[in-house]
Amino acid sequence: MNAIVIDAFEFCRSNGSHEGVTPVAEMTRLTKDCADTSGTITWKVEGGTGKMGFPQMKLSVAGTVQLVCQRCLTPYAHTIDSSTLLMLGKDDQQADEIEEMIDDETIDVIVGSRSMAVADLVEDEALLALPHTPKHDVCPDSALLDKAKSEKISPFDALKGLKSE
Ligand SMILES: [Zn+2]
Repeated sequence: MNAIVIDAFEFCRSNGSHEGVTPVAEMTRLTKDCADTSGTITWKVEGGTGKMGFPQMKLSVAGTVQLVCQRCLTPYAHTIDSSTLLMLGKDDQQADEIEEMIDDETIDVIVGSRSMAVADLVEDEALLALPHTPKHDVCPDSALLDKAKSEKISPFDALKGLKSE
């Protein structure tokens, strides 16, 4: 990924925008949580001005990563599609103040800087978008098991069938 570094405050003030597609393999923190390094993350970051005039960035990530199901321990494709509003404080203290003032849990307040690597922001967002406990909606093994169960006729029913004939 080309290392885009932005002045976060200037980026917001000028309504800047960057977008791109990054291979999962290039996100070393993300791949630690993945079964393999296949896939790509499509991302976009847009600067602007939010509530009460504070600088804010909208960060969106979408893509498919391979995770390991915690129920059956096999890999599966997990689709990420997430966007977050980040507001910028100049330092920890201002970030806390903004958080209190806007009182909005849908917005994360971070400490902005004059040189922020977009790649790091994107990777953070992708990491946050991962499920805490990755798992299949329906595990392939248990789906097979359920099918076998539902098709098996109970011995009792089989016996009843014999008697009635
Ligand atoms: Zn599973």
